[in-house]
Amino acid sequence: MNAFNIPQSNHPRVIIVGGGFGGVTLSRKLTKLQLQVVLIDQNNYHTFQPLLYQVATSGLEPDSIAFPLRGITDNQENFFFRMAQVTQVVPEKNEIETNIGKLQFDYLILATGTKTNYFNNQQIENSSMGMKSVVESLNIRSTMLKNFEKATIRASEKERKKLMRIVISGAGPTGVELAGAFAEFKKGVVPKDYPDINPENMEIHLIDGSDRVLSSMSEASSKKSLKYLEKLGVNIHLNTLVKNYEDDVISTNTDLNLEASTFIWSAGVIGNHIPGIKEDSFHEKTQRYRVDEYNRIMGYESIYAVGDIALMETDDYPKGHPQVAQPAIQQGKNLAKNFKRLLREKPLKPFSYFDKGSMATIGRNKAVADVGSFTIGGFAAWFTWLAVHLYFLVGVRNRVVVFLNWIYNYFNFDRAARLILQPERSKAAPKN
Ligand SMILES: Cc1cc2nc3c(=O)[nH]c(=O)nc-3n(C[C@H](O)[C@H](O)[C@H](O)COP(=O)(O)OP(=O)(O)OC[C@H]3O[C@@H](n4cnc5c(N)ncnc54)[C@H](O)[C@@H]3O)c2cc1C
Repeated sequence: MNAFNIPQSNHPRVIIVGGGFGGVTLSRKLTKLQLQVVLIDQNNYHTFQPLLYQVATSGLEPDSIAFPLRGITDNQENFFFRMAQVTQVVPEKNEIETNIGKLQFDYLILATGTKTNYFNNQQIENSSMGMKSVVESLNIRSTMLKNFEKATIRASEKERKKLMRIVISGAGPTGVELAGAFAEFKKGVVPKDYPDINPENMEIHLIDGSDRVLSSMSEASSKKSLKYLEKLGVNIHLNTLVKNYEDDVISTNTDLNLEASTFIWSAGVIGNHIPGIKEDSFHEKTQRYRVDEYNRIMGYESIYAVGDIALMETDDYPKGHPQVAQPAIQQGKNLAKNFKRLLREKPLKPFSYFDKGSMATIGRNKAVADVGSFTIGGFAAWFTWLAVHLYFLVGVRNRVVVFLNWIYNYFNFDRAARLILQPERSKAAPKN
């Protein structure tokens, strides 16, 4: 027996590291084959990252967007989940090292996603709040609500404004969706919950270095979303780079300096790689593993990568596929099919990405979606966004809970999950 208490099997052992979209898709499919499947994640749950912003803004409970990884298959005997952090890959020994011990593999699949990119700015990394996990989302929620509680007992308007001002750096889908949801919070919750405060003390600022919001989407979507955000009262600062956040002041490369107790960093992501893979199989700038068209890491026979961490450079996608859920799901499906072929000694099929489009929502009733060369906006896009997110959410219970929450919030203009449940972690804890 090994440190993982996993029995030896007559079937090849596949270790999947990471229970995100890619890892979950693969685990479900591979357990149907003559393989021993070991899924390892540092958490015991899958996180549906597209809805993290709703946890951060009190719209949803964290449990409704996370799903226990032990429950993703139908109790198949060849499936093992272990909660561990993988720290090293040792290709020459076909082994991984983790915080609970070592484990050998016949095949290894790395699906470890991304982490927040602070662009080597240690000061911002230490003082701002990222939003890549349930814990970080809850931290944002708790920080914001605690600041609002403090604001109610401050006599000075300047002090109240600082406590209630929310600044977001990065106007990609995460920043835009967060800003829209905070603006709805200001309209729906602040007047009711904090009647002794002028709601206008709550300002939402969205900062981005490029000349448009949602720069990864079409120009039409950018224009529409800018209009929606402005209508919601969000202050937008384009062509502006955040330089520092110190003593509750966000300083930028322009004249803009903002005093704010809540500062969220959503300006980019970088591969969450595990050391041990040789240098030329690794793309330094993006920290992603270079893979071939079968998701095999370049230079290795039995080590693969899927999803955000995999960089597959093709003619259509010379910089790799976009780091969103669909490539991870589709690569997981294709790789599972290729394992079936591998076991039958049939030739493998290359991965081909089917782009289903991209979308972002901006407050209630408004969203933008790019599908092929078409752009849709307004209520139709918003309704499509709701349906798509419910469909891809893992777990029937989660779908029902989220659906009911949305209906409740929609008709009551409410965001019910506004409890301060955990102590703030050190990041961005107000100093007063
Ligand atoms: C706030 C936010 C909003 C988003 N919105 C959208 C959206 O609207 N639409 C969309 O398509 N995409 C969206 N994305 C992107 C999408 O979530 C990712 O592209 C997708 O999750 C990638 O899937 P993955 O399987 O590659 O990795 P992930 O889903 O990130 O999963 C990686 C897993 O690996 C685990 N892990 C990492 N390192 C280790 C280690 N060393 N040891 C053990 N376990 C480890 C992590 O715990 C995690 O469970 C969003 C992302 C964020 C952060």
